[in-house]
Amino acid sequence: MTRRKKLYEGKAKILYEGPEPGTIIQYFKDDATAFNAQKKATLEGKGVLNNKISEFIMTRLGAIGVTNHFIRRLSLREQLVREVEIIPLEVVCRNIVAGSLATRLGQEEGAPLPRSIVEFYLKDDKLGDPMVTEEHITAFNWATTQEIDDILAMTLRINDFLSGMFGAVGITLVDFKIEFGRVWEGEFSRVILADEISPDSCRLWDTATGNKLDKDRFRRDLGDVIESYAEVARRLGIMKDMPTVIQGGLH
Ligand code: 5GP
Repeated sequence: MTRRKKLYEGKAKILYEGPEPGTIIQYFKDDATAFNAQKKATLEGKGVLNNKISEFIMTRLGAIGVTNHFIRRLSLREQLVREVEIIPLEVVCRNIVAGSLATRLGQEEGAPLPRSIVEFYLKDDKLGDPMVTEEHITAFNWATTQEIDDILAMTLRINDFLSGMFGAVGITLVDFKIEFGRVWEGEFSRVILADEISPDSCRLWDTATGNKLDKDRFRRDLGDVIESYAEVARRLGIMKDMPTVIQGGLH
């Protein structure tokens, strides 16, 4: 038996060396953090739910031509993904005012935006993920103008698709954060969607009641975090694949 090599441990995931070159195993932890890890907890079942929800979303996105790193799910908490050269940006897309947009610019949470807004943040915990402009991104070589164009086009396509997908099951996609990576084909590189898409990285509101079904339940101490993630899985029709212990937690 050999121990597999840990490549990186983040706040919610661990990355291990994959079985073939160019692959990585993404392990979903139950740990939750907020406010740059000043608030921490372990939420039993979160990793299993996010692994499954992210698999579902990445598979759907792949089917409509949004190339992404997902290869296949390996177990309850693990998925095999393509190794990418990570682009050090968090790309946020917003449809409704919430979170930092509300606080930073003094806007009313819940107000619909006249058109979707895309923002870029530098992935740097020490700096608290500061917002950056396209000029910063090209000046410091985090991505090229061509890559930024590709990222913007893919982000808006993802937003359209996910808004429709969640809308169909009574969930409003308020905003979300995604990450991209570079893959090389000979001397050419291409930008593909990476990381995860789950209730940890989206704001999802029940369209009928306005109830939050996402990580804001943890950030704002609203309770029922796992029950809300499970409700998202149930509405997407993937709850039946969950272990009974998680299904049992759903009221
Ligand atoms: P805000 O800028 O309002 O705090 O976040 C906008 C959206 O991006 C929300 O859906 C939020 O969950 C997501 N987001 C922003 N930063 C992070 C982050 O560091 N980790 C995760 N998981 N999501 C984030």
